[in-house]
Amino acid sequence: RLYGPMRKNSIGVDLSQASERKVLEDHVDQLRGGKALVAGPIISGKVLSEGGAEVVAPSDTSRRLGTVREASDADVDAALDAATAFQPEWDALGGARRARILSDMGDALEANMDRLVALMAEEAGKTFGDGIAEVREAVDFCRYYAVQAEEKFEGRTRLPGPAGETNHISLHGRGVFACISPWNFPLAIFTGQITAALGAGNTVVAKPAEQAPIIAFEAVRIFQKAGLPVGALHLVPGRGETVGAKLTKDLRVSGVCFTGGTDTARLINKTLADRQGPIIPLIAETGGLNGMFVDTTALREQVIDDVLGSAFGSAGQRCSALRLLFLPDATADFILEGLKGAMDELKIGDPGRADTDVGPVIDSEAREMLQAYMARMETEASVIKTLDTPEGGHFFGPSIIELNSLDQIEKETFGPVLHIVRYKPDNIAEVGAALEAKGYGLTLGVHSRLESFAAKVRAAVKAGNTYINRSMTGAVVGVQPFGGEGLSGTGPKAGGPHYMLRFASERVVTVDI
Ligand code: NAP
Repeated sequence: RLYGPMRKNSIGVDLSQASERKVLEDHVDQLRGGKALVAGPIISGKVLSEGGAEVVAPSDTSRRLGTVREASDADVDAALDAATAFQPEWDALGGARRARILSDMGDALEANMDRLVALMAEEAGKTFGDGIAEVREAVDFCRYYAVQAEEKFEGRTRLPGPAGETNHISLHGRGVFACISPWNFPLAIFTGQITAALGAGNTVVAKPAEQAPIIAFEAVRIFQKAGLPVGALHLVPGRGETVGAKLTKDLRVSGVCFTGGTDTARLINKTLADRQGPIIPLIAETGGLNGMFVDTTALREQVIDDVLGSAFGSAGQRCSALRLLFLPDATADFILEGLKGAMDELKIGDPGRADTDVGPVIDSEAREMLQAYMARMETEASVIKTLDTPEGGHFFGPSIIELNSLDQIEKETFGPVLHIVRYKPDNIAEVGAALEAKGYGLTLGVHSRLESFAAKVRAAVKAGNTYINRSMTGAVVGVQPFGGEGLSGTGPKAGGPHYMLRFASERVVTVDI
């Protein structure tokens, strides 16, 4: 057994140590002062990088990080051919041997933690705290799915049958999986999708988000150096409408694992429905309209701390982030006053420096969308706080908006924007039902010292992950398997015991003598 019951989650970097902070800042400075990075498709281990487009840092758009070549139609075809050809051999290797490779991939990521954290600060604008958590999550995915591969995908299981007959069931890869990932977890989600698919015996063609392809490129190079056969994983960076659409239409693809927006998931679902040939699974993990309910018994300081982290951490660019804070009339002003004061302590700026709390949003499009949203809310609701931001990058100041009614919001606003809704205590079931009616079901928060209050909220609002008296983000692999329902995704939960089964075909063999 690889880890058995002793599997432990990855240990990060202790940012309270000045020496550790300096190591990370030095890595960032090396990236900034070093040669431009060159990335592109990786097909059967071969890198195709000539003629790439520029990638700039979201925290300083005058800084060029490198270039990335987009995959052409021919590149995608070559990747699919190679993945198709290698899949039977990869499946035949068995769960235990694939598990060893996944485990080595996790070790290799962990060994490159500092460089990957620096790269995420530069390419995705992630603070060190976020970057460290992300590398740890990626490592955990490798090790967790290694355990699952070894436990579930090795050998076969005997089933009962009449005398003279034997029955066995076994799990196999379905074929080639297309893994399509978002920019907001450019390493962890990218790695999680791939390792689950690979562990189950599929080969993979991976399309990372166009905003963060260099991290994906570096990860694939690390995986291959760690021993992943070059036939098992192929990288095709590029745009969703071109590379992503081509992949999902292609009949060589036997399953799609997608994380991103709900509208994109619908589009992919439609493409799959319109395909001729086999009916294949779509695993879609999508957005949320996540609420936290606070009652009058909640501890104010704890609420403020957890709201700050849940709403503004990662510049609000987490699917799990807090979007709607429900405050009781009686204590709303008291909590808001503390929250606004605490916001003033946030340092917004260069994610490549250890004392930064909030980095930039991902690109100019994201910033413009947020600015337009705030302009609309200035007239339709009350903007009660917006922080100033530095110049030079795609910064957007964490903001609080008070809504007059829940009718004013239908979708997630993907950024550091927190909405406040006041409620009367005897209304809680009604308010919960109004949130539930929006159709999402990702994360839910409760702050209360009364179990009965938490029970009422939980009865009214269905969510994939509910957090009581703590922050609502930062699910840990194998501890809080993560994923939503309804408009938030198809399930099964990433980092949970049922996830890899969705990537598998089950076969039963019956032998009579
Ligand atoms: P997105 O725009 O939906 O993009 C996700 C991925 O899909 C990207 O790689 C994108 O390519 C690709 N894509 C776009 N159109 C496509 C098409 N027609 N066919 C195939 N692929 C296509 O989402 P995002 O902006 O990257 O990520 C933010 C969203 O992800 C938020 O809604 C967030 O809540 C959600 N999210 C959910 C979870 C979860 O676990 N539930 C986790 C993280 C994020 P491009 O490179 O061209 O964009």
